Amino acid sequence: MFSDNLINLLRGDPVVTILTGAGISAESGVPTFRGEDGIWKKFKPEEIASFDAFIRNPELVWEWYRLRQSIIKDIKPNPGHYTIAEFEKMYKKFYLITQNVDGLHTKAGSREPIELHGNIMRNRCMDCAKEYLEIELPAEAAIPKCDACGGMLRPDVVWFGESIPMNALIRSEKAVNEATLFFSIGTSAQVQPAASMPIRAKNGGAYLIEMNIEETDLTPFADEFIAGKSGELLPELKSLVTMIEN
Ligand code: NAD
Ligand code: ZN
Repeated sequence: MFSDNLINLLRGDPVVTILTGAGISAESGVPTFRGEDGIWKKFKPEEIASFDAFIRNPELVWEWYRLRQSIIKDIKPNPGHYTIAEFEKMYKKFYLITQNVDGLHTKAGSREPIELHGNIMRNRCMDCAKEYLEIELPAEAAIPKCDACGGMLRPDVVWFGESIPMNALIRSEKAVNEATLFFSIGTSAQVQPAASMPIRAKNGGAYLIEMNIEETDLTPFADEFIAGKSGELLPELKSLVTMIEN
């Protein structure tokens, strides 16, 4: 399942960049956008997860995010997240870029994941930008307000039509440019700018691995496509890499 070439690269001194998407959290049971959550049966994602929607009906948007926050609060990382955190400790240069907003990489021990789309457990004031963790929100307020300036709080996620935080963009550029070994894991590779990162890393000389339960638009460009669940494949890969050969 894993090529000798990949094992040898991982036993060398690669600059590893890993890009993850919703698939890495699937085995933790994180509900997807269009999954079972009742609200998507009534609303399209754009009708909840956009600035316009928030201005039009902040109570509704907050009701949705409170629900998502309460679900994600109790969800735990899976072996895929933990293995990525272990890989980080093994390499001098290692970058993790995620499209997920669930914070599970951090919970698993990854030190500074580049969160392209923000973090759903964090909120910020729309006026003064003060940050609030989910646990710091007043429990009963329909629209939580900033205790410093009275402004409306919003979840610190990137909504439809919004741009990626500049800091995350700059850090991810570096991660893409420096990579000699690039993994695209559990992402359908359709949402920009993440979608183009694997190809750009490959064009810059990186060896490109894709890990997914099914093929994607990226698959024809990957040096290796590894089919399966990331929560199973990643621990297997790591044990092969660290196995002592007699
Ligand atoms: P996506 O839903 O478009 O694609 C998920 C991919 O993961 C699919 O290609 C699927 O085949 C694969 N997959 C599913 N289970 C897997 C497993 N166990 N192992 C490996 N691969 C698996 O997700 P995306 O590409 O991340 O883009 C969707 C957008 O939705 C992103 O912008 C993201 O911010 C957002 N989102 C985030 C979360 C989260 O934070 N956990 C959840 C849903 C959506
Ligand atoms: Zn404020």
